[in-house]
Amino acid sequence: AQLTNDDVRNLAKEMGVKFIRLQFTDIFGVLKNVSITVEQLDKALNGELMFDGSSIEGFVRIEESDMYLRPDPATFVVFPWRPRDGGVARLICDIYNADGTPFTGDPRYVLKRVVAEAGEMGYVMNVGPEAEFFLFHVDNDGRPTTVTHDRAGYFDLTPVDLGEDARRDMVLTLEQMGFEIEASHHEVAPGQHEIDFKYADALDTADKVATFKFVVRTIAQRHGLHATFMPKPIFGIAGSGMHLNQSLTRNGMNAFYDPEAPQQLGETALYYIGGLLKHARAITAVTNPTVNSYKRLVSGYEAPVYMAWSSRNRSPLIRVPAKRGQSTRIELRSPDPSCNPYLALAVCLKAGLDGIKNRIQPPGPCDRNIYEMTEEERAQLDIGCLPVNLHEAVRELVKDGVIKEALGPHVYNRFLEAKDIEWDRYRTQVHPWELEEYLTKY
Ligand code: ADP
Ligand code: MG
Ligand code: MG
Ligand code: MG
Ligand code: MG
Repeated sequence: AQLTNDDVRNLAKEMGVKFIRLQFTDIFGVLKNVSITVEQLDKALNGELMFDGSSIEGFVRIEESDMYLRPDPATFVVFPWRPRDGGVARLICDIYNADGTPFTGDPRYVLKRVVAEAGEMGYVMNVGPEAEFFLFHVDNDGRPTTVTHDRAGYFDLTPVDLGEDARRDMVLTLEQMGFEIEASHHEVAPGQHEIDFKYADALDTADKVATFKFVVRTIAQRHGLHATFMPKPIFGIAGSGMHLNQSLTRNGMNAFYDPEAPQQLGETALYYIGGLLKHARAITAVTNPTVNSYKRLVSGYEAPVYMAWSSRNRSPLIRVPAKRGQSTRIELRSPDPSCNPYLALAVCLKAGLDGIKNRIQPPGPCDRNIYEMTEEERAQLDIGCLPVNLHEAVRELVKDGVIKEALGPHVYNRFLEAKDIEWDRYRTQVHPWELEEYLTKY
């Protein structure tokens, strides 16, 4: 059941809440908080709380900086790790301009717009993310290291299951906050973990991803560990991805499932795949938005490099898991958890809808190991590559009108500006690898 403003008022009183954090996400996926006391809750629920938008990166300039927060009562939740007395709760907010119109630079609004477009076509998007992360030790000064508990257990007397304890606590906390946890396990790399929660509609899932990252970091800290969603913290071992499992429903029925079709995959599913593949290179700028993201998208670590789809193996960009009926879904394997979940879901959905509208037929499924093919074989099968770095990805975004439209001019322009600067800062640095490689050689 969806909570109303009245429910929120009553719950806050019943549960002894004293502080409420009003949360929203900036363009780069960073969670922002404005803390208020329960005495201001009414004002907040009425959307009368103002903040200075110019203090948020990628939002607005000083002269147009008065913005309003409108809390979504459905997102009310109490933080289980805070004291019962004088408790702390949060509300996720939409952002409005002073004139009462929605702020187009608000990532949540960007996603809502594409969700509405799907709605007009009769579709609801469901998404289940699989976010991976590393748990690292902190040094004596409390600074994060890249030493994992697995390896640290070697040297000092740290129990080997320090990370397992932290993960168990994360799962319990998330459950108390209304998450339905489907699985949680150690990943392939030392110190790497995955926690999967049940799919929901796109907006709910994007809210949950934002919450998830913040809960995982908070609980890790309480265990003396540092959790990072950085895509590739250590060279030579697997990076952290965030596969996005996606499906559409129509009138409550899975729109990808067709019992009569080959592989029981309906036209809608194929067109959705066609749209995702067509826009994959531009989408990557949003789903893999950091310089470091592209250190993960290399061969040898189960991360995708080539743009193909398959129902059999896990090497291509898009996998269609074997489950059918209501569970029919496609899994996009490129995204990583450094993405802004609102923007990432918005561009994926937009690409899929474009596929459906324009009946974009994907190439046939590729069930062979693409990494073992020659370049000619890949060319014959029309299998292209994902962008190899942030610069290339951003250039693809610039060329893709459909994906630009999904972001809207405000977010697109600010994103582009920021990513060009990020790339330039990286490009002009002299990295340790270069010194090692060239300092004595030349
Ligand atoms: P994998 O086999 O890739 O490791 P997981 O079991 O870890 O997959 O995660 C599967 C994810 O897909 C879960 O979040 C699950 O809730 C989600 N999922 C299941 N059915 C659907 C569906 N119909 N639409 C979208 N997501 C779904
Ligand atoms: Mg998984
Ligand atoms: Mg699994
Ligand atoms: Mg995994
Ligand atoms: Mg997966």
